[in-house]
Amino acid sequence: MTISRADIIWRSATPFSNQYNDAYFNTIDGLNESLHVFLEPNNVDRGSSIFDKTLIIAETGFGSGLNFFQTIKTRAHSHTKMTWLHYIAAEKHPISSSDFQKILSKLKKNLTNQSLVINQYPETPYGFHRLIFPDISTSLTLLFGDATECYSQLLANVDIWYLDGFSPSKNPEMWSPELFREIARLSKPGTTFSTFTSASKVRKGLEAVGFEVRKQPGFGKKREMSLGTFTKDKTPIESDKPWFGIPETDTPEAVTIIGGGLAGCSTAHSLAQRGVKVTIIEKAQRLASGGSGNRQGALYAKLPISPTKQGELHLSGFLYSVNFLKQLDPQQTLWSQCGVAQLATSDKERSRQQQMLDNGHYPSTLVQHKTALELSDIADSTIKHDGLFFPDAGWVSPIDLCNTLTSHPNIEVIQAQVSDLNFSNGCWALTSNDGDMHHCSHIVLCNAELANQFQETAHLPLKAIRGQVSITPPSASTSPLNTVICGDGYISPALNKRFCFGATFDLKGQNLDITATDHQKNLDKLAHALPSIHKELMEKEITLEGRAAFRCSTPDYMPVVGAAPVYEHFIDNYSKLRQDKNWRFDDAKAKHHPNLFINTGHGSKGLITCPISAELLASMLCNEPLPLPKDLIDAINPSRFIIKNLIKQAI
Ligand code: SAM
Repeated sequence: MTISRADIIWRSATPFSNQYNDAYFNTIDGLNESLHVFLEPNNVDRGSSIFDKTLIIAETGFGSGLNFFQTIKTRAHSHTKMTWLHYIAAEKHPISSSDFQKILSKLKKNLTNQSLVINQYPETPYGFHRLIFPDISTSLTLLFGDATECYSQLLANVDIWYLDGFSPSKNPEMWSPELFREIARLSKPGTTFSTFTSASKVRKGLEAVGFEVRKQPGFGKKREMSLGTFTKDKTPIESDKPWFGIPETDTPEAVTIIGGGLAGCSTAHSLAQRGVKVTIIEKAQRLASGGSGNRQGALYAKLPISPTKQGELHLSGFLYSVNFLKQLDPQQTLWSQCGVAQLATSDKERSRQQQMLDNGHYPSTLVQHKTALELSDIADSTIKHDGLFFPDAGWVSPIDLCNTLTSHPNIEVIQAQVSDLNFSNGCWALTSNDGDMHHCSHIVLCNAELANQFQETAHLPLKAIRGQVSITPPSASTSPLNTVICGDGYISPALNKRFCFGATFDLKGQNLDITATDHQKNLDKLAHALPSIHKELMEKEITLEGRAAFRCSTPDYMPVVGAAPVYEHFIDNYSKLRQDKNWRFDDAKAKHHPNLFINTGHGSKGLITCPISAELLASMLCNEPLPLPKDLIDAINPSRFIIKNLIKQAI
């Protein structure tokens, strides 16, 4: 999973790769080369075949993004600017953001929207990262890792391929039969490609997977280049895990979401941004009334020592949420990018943090070691423990976030408690407790631990975990605090002069009464992490307020996001797994309830997992490229529990 950054040397004004001993682009006229080799042969002014609403371009080597910038510039001047552009690019050696800025500034020509990308450019060494630029109707999904590995994890229907590695003799893995097979899997009849090379190995390799290939004059001194069209029919892919298949849907005109917490509001926003009309049905009088209703929540990812699926989701989700919030609320009225300190309050945690840093999976721009003294300086408060510091992290007001996400002309909120779902005649009927009916074509269940209250989803193992936060009266403490502190619990900088800290974690708690015992637990954690603020509160003998709610958790602590499986069908169809977990199934397509989706189980991580999960669901529903790797989508697939239980012979 670890990949190395680009090692760039400069030869006069040209960026040159030390790893591949080749130039990033034509040194004399890179922009015109990009036009000649990539944009013109693929006619990027066209819309896509799907409703002319989206155009999906995929590139094999993102490098400095020259082709990307040239593409958005060209499209901005064409009649297709209303078409949404999905630009996907793999990159094995991501350029650091400082080199990135240097290259762009050297190009001298005006590449519009550079700063948009620079502001969101991910400083992380691996994984999928979706950056969204609503003002120019574009999203850029960067796949950091080897192109073959990354594209084998992508789910998309690509319209255009820009094949741009270093030359085949210097960079053979970028022109391999394995990569060509992935390119073919992601193509459809009519998909086009172009590349600067006319090497026969490349032409033959692309022909072998279904492209009709021709040559034309190349750019500058290059005699010939190659281009072509995919002419084969799309063949269904055989999967060794058919139960994780994703149902095909028609892009909905309207979607009903049950539950108005962070999961529901994020999903509503992602769909509404795509022009889908959304109705949120929320049982409480206001949004964010359950686990998403705290005044402040910490926005950061607790990273594992070595990458895990959960760590990968949290890191991608954290980076996505930060970029998302930067665009949604640049003034930081509902959040603050004040950084998060994660204290090493025990020997075990200190050694865990040290191992994590020694393993070197995360760049220092993401996480740094700091001494207690340094952390005290950053926080402007006495801290007795060393720890990690996440400079881009901070806190968010989940209630304000939910309200902002749903202030959208395509979103309507109604108050009702849905008690029953019934699908008949191609449509869902929802019955509420007071007998009202609501009809719709598509449903997303975002109602936390109650998502399994319906017969269709009763098999989901969701668990409600009680948590209480404590809130000080205004000005109970005059100590400043400039950053979020996480130890055994967390405390955020004061909001409207009140500190919010906690939270308890109570697996057995059944009710939401505020208890003195839980306040004491929160105070004990505070004393350990921030003794000065704790001392001040104790001296003033203040009365704490509190808020208790249930978080919705799952046995593997991963959220539940995707289509709702038909339980009985899974049990019948995949029963052989009880005898052999490696059983190969022929023709064992997964069956799902029609247009019924789930987004729940975010535990206390909703601030980093809800926005990316919402983007995933909205992309699934609208037939767009998915923003996460297939392995990670499988790891949060609602079907996983049935399959695990079959293998364990527990059902
Ligand atoms: N399109 C780029 C631009 O506009 O700057 C130039 C691309 S440069 C010729 C080739 C890129 O492919 C480099 O950034 C290189 O790091 C990347 N690359 C090389 N091998 C790769 C691989 N196996 N997977 C993904 N990227 C790779």
